Amino acid sequence: MQNITILGSTGSIGVSTLDVLARHPERYSVYALTAHTRITQLAEQCEQFRPQIAVVGSAASAEQLTRLLREKRLKTQVIYGEQALCDVASAPGCDTVMAAIVGAAGLAPSLAAAHAGKKILLANKEALVMSGQLFIDAVTASGATLLPIDSEHNAIFQCLPQGYQRNPAAKGIVKILLTASGGPFLTRTVDTLESVTPAEAVAHPKWVMGRKISVDSATMMNKGLEVIEAHWLFGIPASQIEVVIHPQSVIHSMVSYVDGSVLAQLGNPDMRTPIANALAYPERISSGVAALDLTIIGQLQFSKPDLKRFPCLKLAYDALLSGGSAAIILNAANEVAVEAFLDGKIGFRMIDQLISRTMDTLPICSVTDIDSLLEQDRLARLTVRTFIS
Ligand code: NAD
Ligand code: MG
Repeated sequence: MQNITILGSTGSIGVSTLDVLARHPERYSVYALTAHTRITQLAEQCEQFRPQIAVVGSAASAEQLTRLLREKRLKTQVIYGEQALCDVASAPGCDTVMAAIVGAAGLAPSLAAAHAGKKILLANKEALVMSGQLFIDAVTASGATLLPIDSEHNAIFQCLPQGYQRNPAAKGIVKILLTASGGPFLTRTVDTLESVTPAEAVAHPKWVMGRKISVDSATMMNKGLEVIEAHWLFGIPASQIEVVIHPQSVIHSMVSYVDGSVLAQLGNPDMRTPIANALAYPERISSGVAALDLTIIGQLQFSKPDLKRFPCLKLAYDALLSGGSAAIILNAANEVAVEAFLDGKIGFRMIDQLISRTMDTLPICSVTDIDSLLEQDRLARLTVRTFIS
């Protein structure tokens, strides 16, 4: 029996994770669930999955959840705040942590799970983009297991040789082909991008996801963050990570080998596949995802990304090549700009312009510990907020 903490259980990944767990009650039990604001939904999840602990964002939310759980006669203990998230991610009672909080808010608990030597199922790409080497060092030092949930990285993980150890040359790996759907604006005239609305930007053609990652997919910053994520997960340099547009989202990524072989992982676009893969690894369990029928899909298409249409992708490559604090600045500026766009404060094309300006303004420095990381994150947020106002 694996005891699982789900950080961000009310989100898109959190809900898909619970869907897979519910199919295998003999293998998994829920240790803790966490949510920021959707307290009624969390109470319903507690009723179904009976976690020992539930974590929320504030004292008021904790009070509300306690009341709802009492009505349901549940014994789940309710705690709140960032330290509580770190506690349930590192507690002796939990073996596996699904890191599915969105953005920098997931950094501290994800790192806590890494330091505590847990099996970490990583969806929260921003945490790895921000902390990079610090995260990998924590995993190595504690003997934690890091398994990718992001569909592309899970695909790459499945296409890598058994026992792959972050050394591509030793295993004849030439490059990683990271596929990208291209999002909702793949073919829209570039001149009209400024006027797109938040509703248009979050309407992804292939995946149903949270709002932030949906906007990231529309700007292709999501793919940029994934390039950086792939670098840290697999120890592969930027020059060996190539993005390929593939609108059908059937091939989730590929690994190209020195003998000319290219291995791909295919499947219907449904996050329950990578979630089930990581949960059961190295075994396989059912996920609820329908079998792929290629004769219905008919055609798979591929093309190169247009960096004029998607400047965020280039900004992310630049940040990875610059190293140091550059990826922290990129991520922080993006989070603030995306939030401003979703709140109707800035236009769509301002997102890449604000990130670019913030990266040009702040000097890149080396980041050797969590305090300097958080200071760079704070500075970048302050800078981009000043530009917005
Ligand atoms: P979502 O917005 O649907 O859910 C986010 C979850 O995080 C919610 O449970 C919310 O309560 C919690 N949360 C938000 N802010 C918080 C805060 N300040 N403190 C504590 N908890 C907070 O997001 P999602 O689409 O499920 O994405 C989650 C993560 O997974 C992101 O990093 C995203 O990039 C990654 N991811 C998602 C998908 C997908 O298909 N949705 C695919 C690949 C990777
Ligand atoms: Mg992805």
